[in-house]
Amino acid sequence: MTEQLRTVTLRTGERVPALGQGTWHMGENARRAAEEAVALRLGFELGMRLIDTAEMYGSGGAEEVVARAAEGVRDSLFIVSKVYPHNASRRGVTAACERSLNRLETDRIDLYLLHWRGSVPLVETLEGFQRLQRDGKIRHYGVSNFDRADMAEWVALRGGESVAADQVLYNLSRRGPEWDLVPWCREHKVAIMAYTPLGQGSMLGHPRLAEIARRHSATAAQIALAWLLRQEGTIVIPKASRAEHVRDNRAALDITLTEEDLAVLDHAFPPPKGKAALGML
Ligand code: NAP
Repeated sequence: MTEQLRTVTLRTGERVPALGQGTWHMGENARRAAEEAVALRLGFELGMRLIDTAEMYGSGGAEEVVARAAEGVRDSLFIVSKVYPHNASRRGVTAACERSLNRLETDRIDLYLLHWRGSVPLVETLEGFQRLQRDGKIRHYGVSNFDRADMAEWVALRGGESVAADQVLYNLSRRGPEWDLVPWCREHKVAIMAYTPLGQGSMLGHPRLAEIARRHSATAAQIALAWLLRQEGTIVIPKASRAEHVRDNRAALDITLTEEDLAVLDHAFPPPKGKAALGML
């Protein structure tokens, strides 16, 4: 029986889990792939039914790991995948999507994102997405690594206002999007997908995080996730290939940070004081 987690409402009214699972670096090694699929499956059972992948990850291997984990439960999942910018032309996006569908062993991708902005005109990618949507191959489309100016350009295109999400680098130590991108997305009902929410482990040794974690009998990683999860309209996609990490991440949803915790975190990881270019990994 799958648990229902807190949700984020997309502009169409559809609700998706606020806490999902990332897959970068999965599917790169055949021996580890089986363990990765088991970890993802555990995450699904714990309610983390939104899964983020990309044609880039493991050169398609991550999508295959997702297919393995999704066996028999596909219909309960919300699968997000991404197209390379160099595949994002009108025709290229159709072919790339077909390849992803094959690897994912499914007939539709729930949310299909342009991985980052490249040299293909946005209007072409948007038209490609719209055709895929009409054909039932993708249910929603969106973008990734788009800053506010890119978003404004996208929504100005015909049909561009139906962009469902912008997936960006956003975590306690990378708070730049708070300056103008996050408010813009809230105003335009575009979901923010916070990627690398744990900073790939880089921030977890911070003494202030450890102090707050102790107060909550939690780990630093859980506090970093709880900080993102409290924010409206934000989908958080940590990647975990170890079962204990998967369980810890799920439990982060049960942590409520106090005003005092938030003040300590603001001091240790200050919010932006001005506009800076959007970070990207
Ligand atoms: P992350 O989620 O910030 O960190 C992943 C690392 O943290 C892994 O080494 C993982 O270890 C470890 N970890 C997971 N849960 C933990 C826990 N509870 N306690 C301690 N360590 C924990 O980094 P990420 O993979 O870069 O970002 C997450 C996802 O965002 C990606 O997998 C990908 O789906 C997406 N992403 C998108 C873009 C983009 O351009 N759109 C860029 C980067 C990432 P184990 O694996 O050993 O469990």
